[in-house]
Amino acid sequence: MGSKKTAAVLAIQTTALNSMLGFLYERGFVQLMPVMLSPITDPLCHSVYDAGIEYCGQKLQLTKSMILHKQIAIGSPHLEKIFILSPNVRLEKPECGSKGRYLIEFTQLDIEMKGAGKKEFMGLMEGMVCKAIGDVARERSAELALLGRKLEVPEGAFPVYESKEWRKKLGEEFEAELSKKESMPFWVMDHAREFYDKEDEKERGYYHNYDLFYPQGFGEGLSGAERDFEYPVLKRKLGERGQKEEEFGAYMELARAGHLSKSAGGGIGIERFVRYLCGLEHIREVSPFAKVPGDKFVV
Ligand code: AMP
Ligand code: MG
Repeated sequence: MGSKKTAAVLAIQTTALNSMLGFLYERGFVQLMPVMLSPITDPLCHSVYDAGIEYCGQKLQLTKSMILHKQIAIGSPHLEKIFILSPNVRLEKPECGSKGRYLIEFTQLDIEMKGAGKKEFMGLMEGMVCKAIGDVARERSAELALLGRKLEVPEGAFPVYESKEWRKKLGEEFEAELSKKESMPFWVMDHAREFYDKEDEKERGYYHNYDLFYPQGFGEGLSGAERDFEYPVLKRKLGERGQKEEEFGAYMELARAGHLSKSAGGGIGIERFVRYLCGLEHIREVSPFAKVPGDKFVV
């Protein structure tokens, strides 16, 4: 924990965060403080252990992501562009521990833009990620050298892969294959997942969502989407996923009253980004207090 290597990783993380937050401030985004406990949270599209607690007779969830709160906030007529540096608790299954990119608590830079479509949001993220990589390469060359990391700074638009096409070509593990073969970050489009990601109105089963992948086998780093926000659509999609409207209480009431709006957004995982920037074997090396699934925790 007290090593030079950890200090170098933390210096790189600080520069990356400063760069990304500055990028958002410059573009008029406003920052919300994180919600860590709420009756509602992201249902996720994979199973994790329950992280609910009882407080004064209420059941509260530890935040898995602030997606529902982002949609509620951006529904305000007075908020257009928001972000949160958001701690997430996801009690992932122990077998994820050896994959090198899972923690049970991590931080997302979680962003949402009212009225935006996927092209606009993806362009914004390309700008933010390129700037952060460039700033780290320029300002942290000594720390990168200490870690033995040669960082290439990407420029311009990233390649885009359609998931159905590439699953057919390379099989179920196509994303991992592409991540190994690519030398620059890239996008994978159209994933069947949570009810709030926009499904095409005509072509059911096509989702207007996107994941950003890092090259050199570092895997997924950001997930986002255009959002569904209309009550009948959200209700139908919850039903299709076997989820109950009541589980999403205030969120669904706001949707029914017409208070959610069109938006697009996404969350970039800070620890995964730093792992990529530093070229680290395992995400546990990003934080002195990393909680890897299945580990016994001492601090
Ligand atoms: P999601 O929308 O669930 O994909 O989460 C957004 C981003 O958070 C992902 O693209 C990752 O960068 C990061 N993330 C998600 N789950 C984890 C995890 N268990 N450990 C570390 N980072 C994660
Ligand atoms: Mg994801």
